[in-house]
Amino acid sequence: MKKNLACRSAASLPALLALTLTLLTGCAESPTGRPQLMLFDQNQVNKMGISTFEELKAKTPVSKSKKANQYVQCVANQVLAVTPAKYQQNPWEVVVFDSDQVNAFALPGGKIGVYTGLLLVAENQHQLAAVIGHEIAHVMAGHSNERLSSNQAVQATLGVADVALSAVNTRYKAELSSAFGLGAQVGIILPFSRVHESEADLIGLELMAKAGFKPEESVKLWQNMAKAGSGGTPQILSSHPVPENRIKALQQNMAKAEALYQAKQASGKLPTCNR
Ligand SMILES: [Zn+2]
Repeated sequence: MKKNLACRSAASLPALLALTLTLLTGCAESPTGRPQLMLFDQNQVNKMGISTFEELKAKTPVSKSKKANQYVQCVANQVLAVTPAKYQQNPWEVVVFDSDQVNAFALPGGKIGVYTGLLLVAENQHQLAAVIGHEIAHVMAGHSNERLSSNQAVQATLGVADVALSAVNTRYKAELSSAFGLGAQVGIILPFSRVHESEADLIGLELMAKAGFKPEESVKLWQNMAKAGSGGTPQILSSHPVPENRIKALQQNMAKAEALYQAKQASGKLPTCNR
């Protein structure tokens, strides 16, 4: 908590002092300019994401539908193509899981999972891009690192240096997976905070619009999610709680997103991913 305060105050200090404080406390800044406490080495968090993904693949059936795989890969590729260069250094792996779960996730280390159940709720390529953009945004903004950094149990028991190793073979696996937003998969749910959700919404909206997906479909997606809730809460909403003002915030940023979409449209290269 003290360190969080230090992060916030660092943002308003003269540059040299702020830099010193940042190095001492593990402060960073999210893509939207929010001060963050990041205690873990990002390479280690990436390794942890990769090993968690391997495990999920080993225990969850992967869809053999060529059409579903091509469709999800197509949308993911378009969204990934507009992320900053550092996220494109290594190819991302995109896997479609054969499951009724209405869910999707992205993990540090360049991994994306989409469940076939989501494809029934996200009605078109634009809505799927809204989900994938939102999930990639959690990775871009380092939300897992931030969550682990604020989890005192993890900090105290693992030590900052051992986290990647520990993720592979210790009893803290469930908590670590949960920090990735994989609550439904591991049975322990640590929901992303409203701050993280709002941030992922805004970054995701920008990504989808830049990639040439219709930004207003993001609003329809979350409306569809809410409707799908009548038959049981979609799993994605248990780890990604809906901020009350989600739709309002999306709408407030729609003009900017619309301009990005129109710029892509003017280039004559709008995506056509067939469902
Ligand atoms: Zn989220």
